Amino acid sequence: MGTGYVYLVGAGPGDPGLLTLRAREVLGRAEVVIHDHLVHPEVLGWAPPEAERLAMGKTGRLHQHTQDEINRAMVERARRGKRVVRLKGGDPAVFGRLGEEAEVLAQEGIPFEIVPGVTSASAAAAYAGFPLTHRDLAPSVTLVTGHRRRDGGNGPRIDWEALARSSGTVAVYMGVSRLPEVVERLLRAGRDPGTPAAVVHRATWPDQRIVTGTLADIADRVKEAGLTAPAVVFIGRVVELRGRLAWLDRKPLFGKRILVTRAAEQAPELSRLLREHWAEPVELPLIELRPFGHASTTDAVFRRLFAYDWIVFSSANAVRFAFRRLEALGLDARAFGAARVCAVGPRTAEALEARGIRPDVVPARYVAESLVEALASQTELKGATVLIPRAREAREVIPAELERLGARVEVVPIYENVRPATHPPEALEALKQGRLDMVTLASSSAARNYAELCREIGADPDRVPCAVIGPATERTARAHGLPVVVVPERYTLRDLVAAIEGYFRGAGRRTANGRPPAAVR
Ligand code: SAH
Repeated sequence: MGTGYVYLVGAGPGDPGLLTLRAREVLGRAEVVIHDHLVHPEVLGWAPPEAERLAMGKTGRLHQHTQDEINRAMVERARRGKRVVRLKGGDPAVFGRLGEEAEVLAQEGIPFEIVPGVTSASAAAAYAGFPLTHRDLAPSVTLVTGHRRRDGGNGPRIDWEALARSSGTVAVYMGVSRLPEVVERLLRAGRDPGTPAAVVHRATWPDQRIVTGTLADIADRVKEAGLTAPAVVFIGRVVELRGRLAWLDRKPLFGKRILVTRAAEQAPELSRLLREHWAEPVELPLIELRPFGHASTTDAVFRRLFAYDWIVFSSANAVRFAFRRLEALGLDARAFGAARVCAVGPRTAEALEARGIRPDVVPARYVAESLVEALASQTELKGATVLIPRAREAREVIPAELERLGARVEVVPIYENVRPATHPPEALEALKQGRLDMVTLASSSAARNYAELCREIGADPDRVPCAVIGPATERTARAHGLPVVVVPERYTLRDLVAAIEGYFRGAGRRTANGRPPAAVR
């Protein structure tokens, strides 16, 4: 068996976006991941699904592991020839025991690499809105630990007197629980009690919290606010700049937990948009799309696509399922022959183009007039054969309207919309406990299934305001008694997220009287 390899990798402070590209790359090839408790689940998801994942930390409340156990796990896997990623919070080289772990590997003759990470002091300062150094305010920065060695080891002591005399920034790791003592030492050694101070808890996570004050009162303020570890304590004049530079605090969606109820394969798109606005998406798919229809009927239709004058796709899903059918039949885009293709809306058009079909017409909306107009602009409708492959549960007005104008319409349901049989447990728990700031509903079925799920698990839907994609969904939601507060002007995900942001911006201003703001339109 060949020798294994160990990557000692910094996972950054929390926000998965703060991992280095190198870290992501080595994670993607990992066979074993030995990680701290503070690592974001999304980051762990970047390792191959079959990789062994070992949560081994010294800070966790549940399982505490000694450094020895961690070293042994690492060495043992590497000896078995495995590619091991040892993933540690922040930068492994800053209070991360990098020295000890790398030394063990060197001794054992196991090859390793070190991948640095964004350390929490640097991330916390950035997200709180102040620099660590500044030409006029702080010519140096010192990273110090507030943790006292339990083994009473004989390493060098921190020279608090020197730190007190320094005009630079002091960033204390592992220091919240001993904050009064740290402050006391600095004051006793002569640091100005008026020196600005800040404590940043869970920097870069959606529940990041910041308390500011001065050296004289920071300990009391932190106690009052109930801030605990993990947090970095900053002392120094640079903290003042936060007054002007705080940027994350101004994001109305920062830290808001927003339920995403779209189908599992469509949820990531909305989640990504929400994250772009600093919200925390919680995915709980409430619809599942699956193929529908008797193979004998649909297959006959799909083998003869070329025989229709028009094929109308009203959604990207219809395109997706149509091509799944074609693939199953061993066919491809050529099956369309010279049939004209209509795509309702730009997303549907994109889905077709991605599969090699450029639609002949793209009416903006799925309403009778614009569709009829689009088709009629190209061909005579009288006598034309029109195929509409679509969802099982769809509105009937359009086929009827086309028929009234003399077209011969064939509607073929190819997929259906059902409630998923199971739900992700954490999301379900969040819903049960009302630990959500908003629910997004992107279709009538999602609204119906959401109301039903709330009833089943005894969650109170009144507690969480709803944002819906459009008027049809709004009607369904209201019919089920859901509190709809956001309906965007245009029915796209981007507009939905912008409208949600508008809602919370308003809510921020109105918290004084505690009244929820009116619907944003
Ligand atoms: N190697 C890590 C530090 C590990 S020591 C790094 O470079 O950041 C653990 C300490 O790091 C915690 O007690 C706390 O002081 C700090 N810390 C880690 N993650 C943090 C976060 N997200 N926000 C604030 N402090 C954090």
